[in-house]
Amino acid sequence: MRYVIVGGGVAGTTAAEELRKLDPESEITLICEEQHPLYSRVLLGVYVQGKVPRERTFLKKESWYEEKKIEWLRGVHVDALDTQNKFVALSDGRELSYDKLLISSGKEVRTVEYDQRGVMYFRTIDDADHIIQLLAEQGKDACGGIYGGGFIACEFLNIYEAHNIRTVLTFRGEHFWNSNLLPEAGELLLNHFRSKGVDVIAHAELKGLVGDKELEGFVTEQGEHPCTMLGIGVGILSDFSWLEEAGVKIGVGVKADKFLQTSVADVYVAGDISEFEDVYVGREMNVGTWLNAIMQGRVVAKNMTGEPTVFELVSSYAMNVLGIDIIFVGDVAKSEADDVHLVGSVRSGGVTQVFERGGRVVGGVMINRNTDRKVITDAVKSGMPVSDVLNKINT
Ligand SMILES: Cc1cc2nc3c(=O)[nH]c(=O)nc-3n(C[C@H](O)[C@H](O)[C@H](O)COP(=O)(O)OP(=O)(O)OC[C@H]3O[C@@H](n4cnc5c(N)ncnc54)[C@H](O)[C@@H]3O)c2cc1C
Repeated sequence: MRYVIVGGGVAGTTAAEELRKLDPESEITLICEEQHPLYSRVLLGVYVQGKVPRERTFLKKESWYEEKKIEWLRGVHVDALDTQNKFVALSDGRELSYDKLLISSGKEVRTVEYDQRGVMYFRTIDDADHIIQLLAEQGKDACGGIYGGGFIACEFLNIYEAHNIRTVLTFRGEHFWNSNLLPEAGELLLNHFRSKGVDVIAHAELKGLVGDKELEGFVTEQGEHPCTMLGIGVGILSDFSWLEEAGVKIGVGVKADKFLQTSVADVYVAGDISEFEDVYVGREMNVGTWLNAIMQGRVVAKNMTGEPTVFELVSSYAMNVLGIDIIFVGDVAKSEADDVHLVGSVRSGGVTQVFERGGRVVGGVMINRNTDRKVITDAVKSGMPVSDVLNKINT
């Protein structure tokens, strides 16, 4: 059996490891555009903050691939897929045939059109190295800007705080995570950021940058903001072009059933790029979390080796930003919920949002209310009625 895996992030690498266990005699090829062995994106923030050394972010050694008899093609991009003749075409001109193919090519950052020195993105370890280099070059003269209202903006907030850098935070909407948070939760977060000395500016669409080669500031709808470093966190996207051309069904991700099988025979998907049938929340989901990618890597390997296994996980993302805990569990899209219930208050310093669909709990957001996490996770799993959950967490 010949397995080919496109993308060597945590989903693809976990799948390769699992395939080797399940099918010791098989041929496994892992193709990845990045040059590095597997590293933890989750640890990149603390690496840039100077709290863990670079080497600790690596989860595999270069020798691991050979030890596991996994052919590792790094620095190579998959450009095309032929599902009829079952091969992929690589950027170095090679063509690789497969019996079973896994797409685990993840996401990349959405960029803006400006590229003065000082503009930063945050997805890869190369991005992390670039940020560290800028921090070292600028030292005490650094002045930090952020454009974005989500998790990557939070990463930049923590980085600037760790390096004692004055910060202006700008974003397009009313508050952070406009499509997930109620105004009270948004207010709680922004109050907290302000209490930490961050200059917070909402309704601030980016209009341009100031400075020639070196960044001197940026301009939004709300005016000009001086800064020497600008962290951009305006979302992530995937390159679907080669998959669409091959006839693979695409939505917001690569469409898959609950076994992570795509619309094309012998082609599977795992990780950030998948849009799968989520058995707990009852709709197709595209989830960008570390645990989701690992668990999908494990489950997809079973399915690829002929052991039908349903993917079951209540997804979650937890983060501490400037001392406040934020946790997302399950389906937290306001537009998909019948109702979103709020527990707690800005005054009490903690809120929980409970997302309801069809009378049951499908997700939750907790800000400084970590103890609600288990109740909500269990409720999403068991389909507990909303009233029971509200009773439990209100007490
Ligand atoms: C800074 C940061 C902090 C994070 N913190 C958290 C956290 O605290 N908790 C949490 O749950 N999640 C966190 N995440 C999200 C988590 O890291 C991702 O959900 C996870 O890494 C996704 O893994 P993946 O394997 O699906 O995709 P990726 O990690 O994106 O890996 C895909 C790989 O495929 C390669 N590739 C893409 N296209 C091709 C192609 N055509 N040919 C060959 N190779 C290709 C890419 O270069 C990449 O190396 C964080 C992410 C970032 C960036």
